[in-house]
Amino acid sequence: MEHPENSEEYKGLVVNAGVEQPSSVNPYLKNRPKRKKREYSVAEFVEGIVKGDVTILSQAVTLVESLKPEHQVVAQEVIEKCLPYSGNSVRIGISGVPGAGKSTSIDVFGLHVLEQYGGKLAVLAIDPSSERSKGSILGDKTRMEKLSVHPKSFIRPSPSAGSLGGVARKTRETIVLCEAAGFDKIFVETVGVGQSETAVHSMVDFFLLIQLAGTGDELQGIKRGIMEMADGIIINKADGDNLERAKLAATQFRNALHLFPAPESGWTPQVLTYSGFYGLGVKEVWDMVYNYIDFVKQNKYFEYRRNEQSKYWMYESINEHLRDSFYHNAQIEAMLAEQEAQVLRGNLTSFVAAKKLLDTYFAGMKQ
Ligand code: GDP
Repeated sequence: MEHPENSEEYKGLVVNAGVEQPSSVNPYLKNRPKRKKREYSVAEFVEGIVKGDVTILSQAVTLVESLKPEHQVVAQEVIEKCLPYSGNSVRIGISGVPGAGKSTSIDVFGLHVLEQYGGKLAVLAIDPSSERSKGSILGDKTRMEKLSVHPKSFIRPSPSAGSLGGVARKTRETIVLCEAAGFDKIFVETVGVGQSETAVHSMVDFFLLIQLAGTGDELQGIKRGIMEMADGIIINKADGDNLERAKLAATQFRNALHLFPAPESGWTPQVLTYSGFYGLGVKEVWDMVYNYIDFVKQNKYFEYRRNEQSKYWMYESINEHLRDSFYHNAQIEAMLAEQEAQVLRGNLTSFVAAKKLLDTYFAGMKQ
């Protein structure tokens, strides 16, 4: 290019021709594999999972969680093929209200069990209400700082919000995949605010309830049903000024537990105090859990509970499919609002409306 600065009139000034700007795109890039996720076949999924490949495991879990029918078909096949490799684990449910210290505790508990008992740990969650989870792994990474970078751990947030039944089923299926991938310790976390405890209880061997010492009426806020499910109640934040109150709360819980009928397992639920933050009493908590596992393996309750759970999930699965099929039926969708309005206006009783809808549904099935 001609540079005006090189003209005779500007003495002492010379401008050289420039070099071409290098490309901002790395020329070797095209030789690298594409970043787009590969689609695996069922056989490749199963092989990868059984080998313990965490990337493939994660992708399989994503399929399990997907709502797309074509993903579900693959997911179900993968689960079925993984079933023979699953079951060999200890499954622990961990529940507590927000702020009880679940994240802090799971971080510490996870490191403890990996150090003490070896193996691999998967941390899953059931949180149907959660905005937090919605697939944000980052959220869970910051919640469990140490565990999330541990080479033997796999942390997966709750499947994104949906019906509790649906979210719980996905978590249960994810357990199968994790076990097939060699994770022999499974934590299933849930926010202790209602129904989700029942769901978690239906898929774990030991249900651990985290409580806090509060204002002296700890027992009021916690539902009887939840306490009855607990195989162990642990009072967190037993440190500093709070130590005495935590001990007092433990006594109150122990007394309350005496009033419940003895659990089917033959095990007497224990109440312990600990501090997740300072790592105090953590060993005792896990000695308790593993004592329980030994105890129920010996008296065969372990196997019995797992069989009962399988049965429960079979019926849950039937119910879920029937419900889906019913409510997604075109004729039903067209009628439902009107029938509901009729019931509200008092023109139809609930039962007649229900029967009419069901009759329509079943008549449609026969065609
Ligand atoms: P989550 O909502 O149940 O997951 O509870 P977090 O683990 O996020 O804990 C809630 C708050 O309690 C955080 O500020 C923690 O630092 C604090 N915390 C958790 N465990 C302990 C403990 O053992 N002692 C004390 N003093 N604070 C704790």
